[in-house]
Amino acid sequence: MQPVAPESIPHVRVAIVGTGFGGLGTAAQLRQKGIEDFVLFERADEVGGVWRENRYPGAACDVESRLYEFSFAPNPDWSHRFGRQPEIWAYLRRCADDFGIRDRIRFHHNVDRAAWDEAEQRWAITTSQGPYTADVLVAAPGSLIEPRLPDLPGLDAFDGPAFHSSRWPDDLDLAGRRVAVIGTGASAIQIVPEIQKTAERVTVYQRTPPWLIPRLDRPLGPRTKAALRRFPLLGRLVRGALYLHHEVLGLAFRHPRVARGAEALARFHLRRQVKDGALRERLTPKYLLGCKRIILSDDYYPALQEANVELVGGGAREIRPHGVVGNDGTEHPADVLVLCTGFHVTEPPFARWITGRDGHTLSDVWKPSMKAHVGTTVYGFPNLFVLQGPNTGLGHSSVVLIAEAQVEHILNALKYMDAHGISAIEPRAEAQAQFVDEVDERMQNTVWIAGGCDSWYLDATGRNSTLWPRSTGAFRRRVSPFRAEDYHLYRPSLAPNRSPAEVHA
Ligand code: NAP
Repeated sequence: MQPVAPESIPHVRVAIVGTGFGGLGTAAQLRQKGIEDFVLFERADEVGGVWRENRYPGAACDVESRLYEFSFAPNPDWSHRFGRQPEIWAYLRRCADDFGIRDRIRFHHNVDRAAWDEAEQRWAITTSQGPYTADVLVAAPGSLIEPRLPDLPGLDAFDGPAFHSSRWPDDLDLAGRRVAVIGTGASAIQIVPEIQKTAERVTVYQRTPPWLIPRLDRPLGPRTKAALRRFPLLGRLVRGALYLHHEVLGLAFRHPRVARGAEALARFHLRRQVKDGALRERLTPKYLLGCKRIILSDDYYPALQEANVELVGGGAREIRPHGVVGNDGTEHPADVLVLCTGFHVTEPPFARWITGRDGHTLSDVWKPSMKAHVGTTVYGFPNLFVLQGPNTGLGHSSVVLIAEAQVEHILNALKYMDAHGISAIEPRAEAQAQFVDEVDERMQNTVWIAGGCDSWYLDATGRNSTLWPRSTGAFRRRVSPFRAEDYHLYRPSLAPNRSPAEVHA
């Protein structure tokens, strides 16, 4: 690539990476506040983040759509209580249009590097289409986007389509084919009932059974949609009721005794749907409900009992060109291999391309455990905001609520910077450490730590660096405000060749 003269490098106030709920939500709110100087970088040719990527059969949201939508963009047209992937993706595309964001999106721009330039007090961003600079960087790449492939011998030698659940081929016809599904997390549980209808045979490799509770989905008919359109207050009331319902559910995570109570519902669901005692035993988890993500499904257990489906316990041991070997050494033939093995969450790949004040990457400083102030800003990384960063995930409610609270933090920070002539903010190491301590302390007695399982919530140190351990209301109260006293605040120095001057809140 030809070197670009510094003066011809496009500069923006805010650069946003990613166009899922986080990126689009940030852009919509920036515009709403009259901040127009921003761009979004998107590596693909369309918006949508995980809802663009995950197109597997049966893909749907496992939080009710009335709660899993922007608070400022209610959609009266969800087809079901739990929206399906195509309509969630369409909703995000519509938001990009309705909020006038589309022309700010730089599609096919993969961000290769973003480095903080201390002298210039700005981010130097290298994209696949050329360089940019920005005062502020908002990283919104999503936390469940980079497939985690299993480390199984022979994987590369499989003689047929083999792909991760989030890379489902558009034109795959499973009629007459034998499909091996590895994993029994949220993705597999949605995929199996759908593909069972067309595939000749489906073999499900379960390493650890998940807890399932009823989903109780239902279609939303024309009368409901008309009422929601005519009386927007109705939608807000439903949303409020769902919000409360989820917060009550959240208690189960924080109080393992409540989780034991909730297990009764899951056991009842299993007993009602699986009459075969031996199969039921194999499907009963040995850890506390909530320790791994709770799965909502009404059709997974019935699908497993169909004549063309087989559950193999103990997971997979080896992949061969025409089959998968289970842990007991038996090979089951397969023509198609579906890897529902989750995502890299605790070592997010985007952290590798962000370099902070001292030349370290975010990935360096997040080893062995991701930490951020209010889950959003990171010591050593001025003017960086990470959406769905460390300890911002939820086991019980909608992550859109979390993203909106983080966006409020960003807007409040920008407002403060404008009002006080601040060019850069960076969380104080003590403030970040205090926030992390608060989180860790709250985490101690939760089901994620004390529930007796291993999960993607925990990092290599055994710390839960992914989830927020309190209510979403508590998150909003803690995260939305910009507390200047928690930050180093810098003003550009007026003298040439002088470092920016720190000011005090
Ligand atoms: P996941 O929950 O991480 O599940 C991965 C599955 O693969 C687990 O059953 C795991 O077993 C198994 N596995 C991993 N490596 C294996 C190996 N080498 N051999 C055998 N089994 C292996 O991944 P996911 O299902 O893609 O879901 C990830 C997250 O995405 C969910 O928790 C949820 O937050 C989100 N999601 C949401 C929706 C929705 O809203 N509808 C849908 C899908 C996903 P172990 O349990 O033994 O590790």
